[in-house]
Amino acid sequence: MKQQQPYCVLCGRSQKEVPLLMEGMDGHICSDCVSQAYQVVQTELHSEKHKNKKAPKFQVIKPIEMKAYIDQYVIGQDEAKRHLCVAVYNHYKRLMQPKTKDDDIQIEKSNIIMVGETGTGKTYMARTIAKMLQVPFCIADATVVTEAGYVGEDVESILTRLLQAADYDVAKAEMGIVFIDEIDKIARKSDNPSITRDVSGEGVQQALLKLLEGSVVNCPPQGGRKHPDQKMIPINTENILFICGGAFNGIQRHISKRLNTQPIGFSSDDSFFEEFDDNHLMRYVTSQDLKSFGLIPELLGRLPVVTYLNPLNKETLLTILTDPKNALTKQYHKLFKMEGIDLAFEKAALEYIVDQAMEYKLGARGLRSICESIITDAMFELPSQTEIKHLNITLPYAREKFERTVFHKMKKAA
Ligand code: ADP
Repeated sequence: MKQQQPYCVLCGRSQKEVPLLMEGMDGHICSDCVSQAYQVVQTELHSEKHKNKKAPKFQVIKPIEMKAYIDQYVIGQDEAKRHLCVAVYNHYKRLMQPKTKDDDIQIEKSNIIMVGETGTGKTYMARTIAKMLQVPFCIADATVVTEAGYVGEDVESILTRLLQAADYDVAKAEMGIVFIDEIDKIARKSDNPSITRDVSGEGVQQALLKLLEGSVVNCPPQGGRKHPDQKMIPINTENILFICGGAFNGIQRHISKRLNTQPIGFSSDDSFFEEFDDNHLMRYVTSQDLKSFGLIPELLGRLPVVTYLNPLNKETLLTILTDPKNALTKQYHKLFKMEGIDLAFEKAALEYIVDQAMEYKLGARGLRSICESIITDAMFELPSQTEIKHLNITLPYAREKFERTVFHKMKKAA
């Protein structure tokens, strides 16, 4: 059959079996083989280029400088910032240590786990540090990963992202940093072994071990499972730094149980109560609590640094609105300036925005959607007029706009 129909000279499949078949002088080649060949060429060329390279040279940034940079964008969260900066700095130092056989002391990497409510800045901090880094960096979501063979992505796809961030330069990817978000969502579902497999929970944790422990992992250059015949690229994860983040909702219960204190309830001693209330408990989080929450000990063993992010209070949210380099109010100001309009927010309006964000428990993430709902009308109408040169967002203005939103109506209906 294949002799009559055109077929790919590399994989032997006929026109019907491939997305596109291209004709050459003496035969055909299919689009799948072309894209696979491209990946191979990229990888081979890059590794060839890097074979003769000596130890990589970095412009090393000291932890204090690193933190000063992050401070410009991320408000508060000092404890987490310090841990992150030290881990990243040591990561650089590990990469630069000469590989001599007789040196007994090998610096081990200190993968990190960050615990903090949603919208407190875990991902933002990771992104900010990535901007400053000289190494490839990627963010992956633990919830899309499943145990091999089930619907979802394989853990190797996380490394595919890193490889893409490194422009398919394997040597560079092997020195990168990976941020795995929503690690709490792959907690073991229950302590009792169940008859159904926990393929998106404990199964994924087991699969992640292979990445975290520093082994050679075969990684699909195009990710996913759609290209079963793609040539795998071996990546050594020994030098890759992993940072995990998760909200771990309800972990306070485990912390307070461990600390042998009462969970929130009735207490006559107010100072005691304040010290150990939900907001303050987070700072006592340890690997043990994460284990009670459902992370397996093997995984925790490979994430030795545990740090926390504070819930954002009203003052912090107000500062986030106005102070960081990339603050929301500064962004709106710039947008209006481009129309020749001076935008100002009254303090009371800002406080109103923060109050709404607190009420919806969205952390700083909620600030943006609330601001959008208040300011969209002006952004829609003002570009088409010429008279108005100033817009002052007052409390009544903010309240009127916000109360008309679906957001607000839903709350009233509830
Ligand atoms: P999560 O902790 O759920 O990963 P994110 O880092 O995604 O939260 O935060 C959502 C958004 O809220 C960020 O893009 C950022 O704009 C803002 N944000 C959160 N925390 C802070 C903070 N501490 N300082 C400044 N902005 C913050």
